[in-house]
Amino acid sequence: MRICVIGSGYVGLVTAAVFSDMGSDVVCADIDEGKIASLNSRIMPIYEPGLEEMVKRNMDEGRIVFTTDVAASIKKSEIIFICVGTPSQSNGETDLSYVKSAAKMIGENLNGYTIIVNKSTVPVGTGDIVRRVVISTGRSEEEFDVVSNPEFLREGSAIGDALNPDRIVVGAPSKKVAKKLKELYAALGAPVLVTDVPSAELIKYASNAFLATKISFINAIADICEKVGANVIDVAEGMGRDKRIGRDFLNAGLGFGGSCFPKDVTSLIHTSSILGAEFKILKNVVSTNENRIPHFVDRIVERFPDMGACSFGALGLAFKPDTDDMREAKSVEIINLLLERGAKVKVFDPVAMNNAKKILTNVEFCENPYEVANGADALILITEWREFRTLDMERIKSVMKTPVIFDGRNMYDPRAKAKIGFEYYGIGRGKGMEKE
Ligand code: NAD
Repeated sequence: MRICVIGSGYVGLVTAAVFSDMGSDVVCADIDEGKIASLNSRIMPIYEPGLEEMVKRNMDEGRIVFTTDVAASIKKSEIIFICVGTPSQSNGETDLSYVKSAAKMIGENLNGYTIIVNKSTVPVGTGDIVRRVVISTGRSEEEFDVVSNPEFLREGSAIGDALNPDRIVVGAPSKKVAKKLKELYAALGAPVLVTDVPSAELIKYASNAFLATKISFINAIADICEKVGANVIDVAEGMGRDKRIGRDFLNAGLGFGGSCFPKDVTSLIHTSSILGAEFKILKNVVSTNENRIPHFVDRIVERFPDMGACSFGALGLAFKPDTDDMREAKSVEIINLLLERGAKVKVFDPVAMNNAKKILTNVEFCENPYEVANGADALILITEWREFRTLDMERIKSVMKTPVIFDGRNMYDPRAKAKIGFEYYGIGRGKGMEKE
């Protein structure tokens, strides 16, 4: 099948790579000339494990091409995936301008019956908006159909997620159109749930909002643990072993960030308020999340009241491990609060340094964790990269001014760190039994 993917970001590029790997001819089109030039020079514009090999393999075999000529790509394709950004506006409403402009280009250039698939995360009703934009370019209803096929991949494991999805959701206007999409995905052997278009659009927001709720829920439990000396990891384990609850997304920490959860939750709150069905739970999920960083920084200030005389080492900058994505990264909020209070901050991330340099100012970028620790009053673990688990903590301790760790992700075992002589502060971890 000839496929066009509009947008070559985290979702578009992975989608294009995976479809080409399954044997389709794919054109991946983007208006960002830098991204396309980089891809045509075989340099990935984003870090995503396994992506580079897959893209290069399919480039070599002639199944994937990259272009800025969106119009020509549309003309050649039977199925067009919209994978452009859908950022938040200041009132929480989703900015659909990129989706609308992609829809207009599709309307102006489609050539024969075409299925337009919206993979971007969009508020319920957007399928209809896309349909109306295409019609406004002079097209008739018979020339196209609009499908909602939300994406559930996670950055850092995007290729694996796209190849082995828990489910593929296809919101289609008819069985015939749904069948086309099922055929396209057949090689994955994954379960396909066919719904109407609005239900598919809502499934994506409901899923992300529910996961965000789990995170805020366990963080609220962590706050109680801190007050009573209980251990949130044991509480989460005890809850998670109940199959009805599940252990995933019950890790207390610094709250949810990244390019999806914050904007998707606020978008659903906005949609529900417009519809007169105010989503009170979600408003509290957001306010709990917004309190995470001020609460964490307060604990650092409590331990180091003379912040102006302090130097801190921040480990991990990306919004989560295995990605270079700095969108809504908690590191930025923490570091800016420390800088505002006069502290000096040294930073290191295994892959997000280039992106971080565009955002963070007045910090010292280091080559490795040991340089970050050198002379530091405390280490602050922000992103739980695997490689930070196996640091030589004796060496770290030997170069620090005071051996203090603020572990924002509960990555370390407090007892093991105490044995080496570290003063340890985790999230919601009491003084009870710790696993050795
Ligand atoms: P991104 O910002 O990384 O990429 C979007 C790309 O679209 C950019 O390269 C931009 O230049 C391009 N673009 C914008 N307008 C265009 C146009 N008219 N024609 C061609 N290209 C255009 O965004 P992303 O992270 O890939 O997210 C895309 C969508 O997928 C969003 O709706 C997001 O919510 C959703 N989503 C993202 C993830 C994720 O983990 N990043 C997961 C699931 C769903």
